[in-house]
Amino acid sequence: MSRTYGNFIDGEWTDSQSGETFEVTNPAAADEVVSVHPASSEADVEAALDAAVAAQDEWASTPGPSRGAILREAGNNLEARKEEATEVLVREEGKTRSEAGGEVQRAIDIFHYYGAKARDFGGTVKSASAPGKDLYTKHEPLGTVALITPWNYPIAIPVWKLAPALAAGNTVVLKPASEAPAVVSIVLECLDDAGLPAGVANTITGSGSEVGGPLIESERIDGVSFTGSTAVGTMVAETAAVDLKRVQCEMGGKNPTVVMPSADIEDAAETVGVGAFGTTGQSCTATSRAIVHEDVYDEFVAAVSDYADSLVVGDGLDDSDMGPHVSENELSSTLEYIDIGASEGATLEAGGSRLSGDDYDDGYFVEPTVFSGVENDARIAQEEIFGPVLAVVKADSFEDALDLANDVDYGLSASIVTQDLSEGKRFVNEVEAGVAKINEKTTGLELHVPFGGYKDSSTNTYREQGDAGLDFFSSVKTIYENY
Ligand code: NAD
Repeated sequence: MSRTYGNFIDGEWTDSQSGETFEVTNPAAADEVVSVHPASSEADVEAALDAAVAAQDEWASTPGPSRGAILREAGNNLEARKEEATEVLVREEGKTRSEAGGEVQRAIDIFHYYGAKARDFGGTVKSASAPGKDLYTKHEPLGTVALITPWNYPIAIPVWKLAPALAAGNTVVLKPASEAPAVVSIVLECLDDAGLPAGVANTITGSGSEVGGPLIESERIDGVSFTGSTAVGTMVAETAAVDLKRVQCEMGGKNPTVVMPSADIEDAAETVGVGAFGTTGQSCTATSRAIVHEDVYDEFVAAVSDYADSLVVGDGLDDSDMGPHVSENELSSTLEYIDIGASEGATLEAGGSRLSGDDYDDGYFVEPTVFSGVENDARIAQEEIFGPVLAVVKADSFEDALDLANDVDYGLSASIVTQDLSEGKRFVNEVEAGVAKINEKTTGLELHVPFGGYKDSSTNTYREQGDAGLDFFSSVKTIYENY
């Protein structure tokens, strides 16, 4: 069964002005249309901007506690619709029911978190240098902001931008990714039902260039928060910089886990396996390189290959261990990287093929794949694959492992598995990554801590989540009052 969604502009669900639409199909059963959405264009962007700009002053002057109450209520509404949102997410994006349920819960928690934070949004009083003088700062909203989001966390990422933007008093135009836009419509319905005034949050679907392009170029936009690939994000940052808009881009990763001889190798293999194959490897923080000390290399390769072989791949609705790729394009890209890995001389230890037969033929299923004998300058060790492919690289010492971990253009998340505290501490201090962990997988981050990358993983301007989320969406005014 398929549902038709609209753009949400000025508190109304509308078709695109051209009347054009596009379909989203189920990655586990590609002939099943799960939803239909407006294929919007610049005219729709302008309509959304009219609404967002008109709503700005009133929303900015709405007291923080009142803004927060609406966010909390939106969280409650989403909680009441958790099962429905989870199913929509699985059917459009393909992740497993457990993964999708966790992601919807994350969105609920973010609404509740920023609902509370909206009360504290204000500023700081500083000591003045003379009597009869008050000196303090005041946080003000940026104005109207553009949010552009990817398909791989199609509810959590929109909400971790929307909630702080609204808490800080901004109005919003959101463009979700076309692969998985339906679950965002549920979020907008929850905000609407919670009493969000018309025009404060607007969402438009359509192609990146036809909707995202005009949005980031518009002079009526005061800030751009983008998550997606480094190629598109670099272009977004350059465009936004032309008229000095505030911009943050969080982008790709090539995240390593270092495994040292003191580690329990079975545990290390599970840590790496969950990081590499969870969400079908389609996480920006997915573990795509295991950098393993030579003393435990063979043992680790055998253990992580067994782990990969043990996973049941299937439809996310059946809550298999690993779902399909989101699209035929993503599947083709992963299969191409598997060919590249083999042609570069790496040894295929597990997986390596598209799954076929029975229900597999209808979807974009690929085996969890492990390559050993990978040189760190190989393409499969340097480029973001965004699929369930792990490259295992050999290191001859801790220093070598650290150098290999840093010898990549990306710098999003990194971890080490070791029982040696000195190694662990040196690793988190010296690794070039925005998230560094000891004895934990590279994926996953709690909602109240800053999230963002180093190097080509981020513009490194502002972090997302936690207090940092509010920093991006506000300007600080310094105020002197003499009396
Ligand atoms: P993408 O860059 O293809 O698309 C991201 C968004 O940008 C989509 O909404 C798309 O429609 C839009 N877009 C495309 N072209 C545009 C243009 N010319 N102007 C404006 N907007 C445009 O990324 P994707 O395939 O949706 O997502 C996967 C990527 O996202 C991976 O590289 C992954 O690492 C990254 N990602 C990063 C994080 C993070 O926090 N660092 C989190 C999740 C995903």
